[in-house]
Amino acid sequence: MFNSSDHKYIFVVGGVMSSVGKGIAAASIGKILQSKGYTVTAMKIDPYINVDAGTMNPTEHGEVFVTDDGDETDQDIGNYERFLDITIGKVNYMTTGRVYLSVIHKERNHEYAGKCVQVVPHVPQEVIRRIKEASDLAKSDFTVIEIGGTVGEYENILFIEALRMMKFENPDNVKTVMVSYLPVPGKVGEMKTKPTQHAVRALNANGVNPDFLIARSEYPLDEVRRQKLALYCNVLKDHVISAPDVETIYDIPVNFEQDDLGNKILASFGMKPAKKDLKEWRELIEKIKTVQQEVKIAVVGKYFESGQFTLADSYISVIEAIKHAAWANNVKPVITWVSAEDFERHPQTLSDLEKFDGVLVPGGFGSRGIEGKIKVIGWCREHNKPYLGLCYGMQLAAIEFARNVAGIADAHTTEIDKDTSNPVVHTMPDQIQKIAHGDMGGTMRLGAYECLITKDSVAHKAYGEQKIFERHRHRYEFNNDYKDVLAKAGLVFSGINPQTQLVEIIELPANKFHVGVQFHPEFKSRPLSPHPLFIEFIRNSLS
Ligand code: GLN
Repeated sequence: MFNSSDHKYIFVVGGVMSSVGKGIAAASIGKILQSKGYTVTAMKIDPYINVDAGTMNPTEHGEVFVTDDGDETDQDIGNYERFLDITIGKVNYMTTGRVYLSVIHKERNHEYAGKCVQVVPHVPQEVIRRIKEASDLAKSDFTVIEIGGTVGEYENILFIEALRMMKFENPDNVKTVMVSYLPVPGKVGEMKTKPTQHAVRALNANGVNPDFLIARSEYPLDEVRRQKLALYCNVLKDHVISAPDVETIYDIPVNFEQDDLGNKILASFGMKPAKKDLKEWRELIEKIKTVQQEVKIAVVGKYFESGQFTLADSYISVIEAIKHAAWANNVKPVITWVSAEDFERHPQTLSDLEKFDGVLVPGGFGSRGIEGKIKVIGWCREHNKPYLGLCYGMQLAAIEFARNVAGIADAHTTEIDKDTSNPVVHTMPDQIQKIAHGDMGGTMRLGAYECLITKDSVAHKAYGEQKIFERHRHRYEFNNDYKDVLAKAGLVFSGINPQTQLVEIIELPANKFHVGVQFHPEFKSRPLSPHPLFIEFIRNSLS
């Protein structure tokens, strides 16, 4: 029986710098605890004022991960679902904006009964209320809560204050893990612990000391540095965990286990492992490291570039889904970013696609790069190159087919040309007012919706069932006025939402795999249960 007073909370905070794998560390801690027989849920706190991640640019903030219940969250929620193989919802995600909105609403509703409403304690109390709500709903033994950003930033002080308050109230049930970075500067050639010492001091200034320190670095931690960190950071030496760079993120739970992190965490709560089993996970890692034959997939997008760097984070669920499906097909995924805009400028380079086994166009918004994407889709159709289009990738496949096969030369989407004479993709009726009024936050068609699949279609073959639920995030849809004319020209509408008749899946039986889906299957792919559509796409790419 779930008893909230026994519930255990593990906060994960960051030191020194971001992007060192705090989310993966949080997910991996959860994974290890699961493997020891405990149930786990995980939460992400984003310190932004944005109410959700839906209004943030993916090149700045990474992918917007959509939950079944239609929340636009941080990509780490995706990591939690993939690692823990659980489905989590909007209560597991909060931002500063969301917390303040609640406090202000409560104040307006007179729920503070005449009190002066203050940043402290009311804001951290709202944070704590949310953490407990998610934990109660999950009825899990543990809640792992990742506080975004790094300690010492103004932004996350109130969340650390919530952690301090929870720990003060119930020190036995609340632990803090700091994931910090230890640089090895090229010229110095030595691993430096000082930035981490400073990060711990910054956390101390907020009244919290870490119980565990995860030392992220290019290299494993040596004994000298382990001792130094323990002494200066006030953390038991046994609780300083070495976390060097690894080949695959799925290795991280196994790596942590080399330092016996799971049992140490349990012991710190006065608990023992109930079982020990990372077997399936270890088998997967073995496969990842040994598969030889390659499958080469081109992902054609635009959210890659940040200054001089390429950011794969904008498409993380797509990338992971390709990897999961490749491993399920016993091959090694080789993913190449292809910029849609390059094909616009140099259409003659389309034949470069020949070197790939399959091509994928993921979701997207706006006009940049779309003519290039349409060219790519057309090339795949003509050359029978396996093609998978996700959301925008499906809408553009419909437009490509309308233009080049059905002879509707000016077919377009109203997203780009609102007055087009052939709106093959048009604004969903309930979106018209929202767009007109600029009501853009959290208002797309979001979350899981039903789709009925036509028997004997490629989609049916992939799913093996006729009724599926997939997650969505869009404002535009295929215009059913064009259904007959495109069907006559050979396009098959193999998935339909039964409530609204909205087209969910299109495919071209003339090709070996030319499928577009209005939804985002990538959000439901997990390493140990890859997504059927991706499996089928990779299988066809190999044949
Ligand atoms: N821009 C398209 C729409 O809003 C597709 C969205 C997406 O790819 N997620 O309908």
